[in-house]
Amino acid sequence: MTALLDLTGKKGLILGIANEHSIAYGCARVFKQAGADLAVTYANVKAEPYVRPLADQLDASIIMPCDVRDEAQMTALFKAVEKEWGTLDFLLHAIAFAPKADLQGRVTDCSKDGFLEAMDISCHSYIRLAKLAEPLMQNGGSLLTLSYIGSVEVVKHYGLMGPVKAALESTTRYLAAELGENNIRVNALSPSAIMTRAGSGIADFDELLKSTAVKMPLHRMIDIEDVGNMAAFLVSDLSKNITGGVHMVDGGYEIID
Ligand code: NAD
Repeated sequence: MTALLDLTGKKGLILGIANEHSIAYGCARVFKQAGADLAVTYANVKAEPYVRPLADQLDASIIMPCDVRDEAQMTALFKAVEKEWGTLDFLLHAIAFAPKADLQGRVTDCSKDGFLEAMDISCHSYIRLAKLAEPLMQNGGSLLTLSYIGSVEVVKHYGLMGPVKAALESTTRYLAAELGENNIRVNALSPSAIMTRAGSGIADFDELLKSTAVKMPLHRMIDIEDVGNMAAFLVSDLSKNITGGVHMVDGGYEIID
């Protein structure tokens, strides 16, 4: 890590750690190394035993449950952030979900309920979080989410998540346009395939990992720390004029036909 990248004194809220393989954990580790204070959430009681030890290692100031479908939990989380810190500098949204039957079938066949649930958890939750974060970002701030190339091209087995990520990327642009006047920057990272729990929900994910490494110019898999390094840049003051973007972390995968 370069000495230039310094998050000392910055306070960040991390949503999306499920285990040590999570992209959110890779990001949180780099944020912590760079000096940030962190708040960490877990999605439910089942996740807590996996997340709490990681949050302890990160010396998190706040460790709280937050299922993004639960308005009361969201409100309690931001109340706790306000009480502990008064302000918030950055927020990482690394959350996605789609019901398996809808995810693994054709988009043509996906149910209305499955589509709405995937959109709610994976996309609209970013809007809800932005709204709650805005009043705490009085000194400006940085919001970050995670997308995937399946938003703009058809990736086999990515199915329903393609349209959902397309909406998430567009949401990133609209939030960036609206929140810019408060010096709140909004960006998305788009990593190539990484083996995580969410990734393993995609059919034939092993094949996707292999074909990704073959196709990309750099011919090596990216990992959660690569994403963390880019995320740390985007929440730091080094990127103070960068907003509204979808930033590839993909070894050049995107440029190859
Ligand atoms: P992961 O399974 O570690 O993380 C997904 C997280 O979403 C989990 O922590 C889970 O608890 C959380 N989540 C699901 N439903 C939730 C809810 N209702 N409330 C709160 N949290 C909820 O997998 P990951 O790969 O680290 O995924 C993080 C993000 O990165 C996702 O948006 C995913 O689409 C994106 N992404 C992943 C890859 C990849 O190849 N793994 C590539 C590009 C983008």
